Amino acid sequence: NNYTREDILRMVEEEDVGFIRLQFTDIFGTMKNIAITTSQLDKALNNEIMFDGSSIEGFARVEESDMYLYPNLNTFEIFPWRPQQGKVARLICDVYKPDGTPYESDPRYILKKVMAEAKEMGYEFNVGPELEFFLFHTDDDGLPTTLSHESAGYFDLGPLDLGENARRDMVLTLEDMGFEIESSHHEAAPAQHEIDFRYDEALTTADNIMTFKLVVKTIAKRHGLHATFMPKPKFGINGSGMHLNMSISRDGINVFQDAKDEYGLSKEAYCFIGGIMKHMKALTFITNPSINSYKRLIPGYEAPVYIAWSAKNRTPLIRIPGSRGEYTRVELRNPDPSANPYLALAVCLAAGLDGIKQGLMPPKAVNRNVYEMTDEERKIFGIEKLPGSLREAAIEFQKDTFIQEILGEDLSRKYIEAKTSEYYEYRIQITDWELEKYLHLL
Ligand code: GLU
Ligand code: MG
Ligand code: MG
Repeated sequence: NNYTREDILRMVEEEDVGFIRLQFTDIFGTMKNIAITTSQLDKALNNEIMFDGSSIEGFARVEESDMYLYPNLNTFEIFPWRPQQGKVARLICDVYKPDGTPYESDPRYILKKVMAEAKEMGYEFNVGPELEFFLFHTDDDGLPTTLSHESAGYFDLGPLDLGENARRDMVLTLEDMGFEIESSHHEAAPAQHEIDFRYDEALTTADNIMTFKLVVKTIAKRHGLHATFMPKPKFGINGSGMHLNMSISRDGINVFQDAKDEYGLSKEAYCFIGGIMKHMKALTFITNPSINSYKRLIPGYEAPVYIAWSAKNRTPLIRIPGSRGEYTRVELRNPDPSANPYLALAVCLAAGLDGIKQGLMPPKAVNRNVYEMTDEERKIFGIEKLPGSLREAAIEFQKDTFIQEILGEDLSRKYIEAKTSEYYEYRIQITDWELEKYLHLL
């Protein structure tokens, strides 16, 4: 899309749009929006719509609470599921301060900043995400449960796959909104699904991830189901990841490829991996930001635990998927869909660029199953573990000043505060597991 102001006004008129939602994302990855009627559209397109930043978690303090929304015209999209008269459209916005400068803790701004740095090196950052999610039933009050009546597995077809109709509807709706869907399938666990859309430049991909989640949740609801992107909703079965397939191009040509190399990878690709591995423990705080995230990162459920990379094996944290040439990419497997996509892509790119700038070669590829190695063997290969909890990740993040600077002092501090209190709140809970384990025994 390359819309002008006139295009927007014309589409709103022709399509009978009644409401426009001005969207942005808070630092924790939650989408927020202000709905306006078309009478306010001119004002919105003049960047004059204001909101109270102090009422958004992690945004400005009360003393400096006025914030402005600057809509990005190219993000204009009509919600296909809303009424056909007085339609509802959206514009994804940037957050600005009253003095006309960008708000430093706007996640979209942070990603743009790192992308601009890449651009200075001649690079474009492309990302293709793979989001997994569960479809559960709702109870009589319409509240989500973790129940599903299906027991289908990986790649199974109907009639086992009860979520199939919902998934089909999701795919069609996403296509209506301009997504190019590459595949959709049932995932390994009962009621677990995955829909993959085409890679794009990082900013568009982050916008797409936010839209994707909204569409999946909305369409699930229309089918009487609850879609959840919670990383590990059920004990004993796979959790949901958001693998990131990343590559860098220069003048439209993928620079990660090198046909002469044993793995088909260029120096840039190796150093990108090296940078990611160097900062991995701190990145985890952003790519796996909830208490629940760390219940997914355990052995036995196709989720990574050890910090290693491989061009062959799919068990490690970083994998090089089969295709080469134009499609050469680095797949990072620890991120989960509870992450703020703008921040997750920003820190991954920054870490990769740091690797390229410093010429950091990664350790040797591990082409064996890392889970089957003994602790001794892993030690010999220098294979470390990802943080085991949100608390550990916070500690690692606090040690990595490079990653903190990417996010800025203000956001880093608020993020640490919020996640620390999340951890302490969790720490004092009495769980069902404890009651079952101890109540009758002690
Ligand atoms: N669901 C797995 C995870 O938690 C990934 C399965 C796959 O390889 O697609 O990351
Ligand atoms: Mg998958
Ligand atoms: Mg994958």
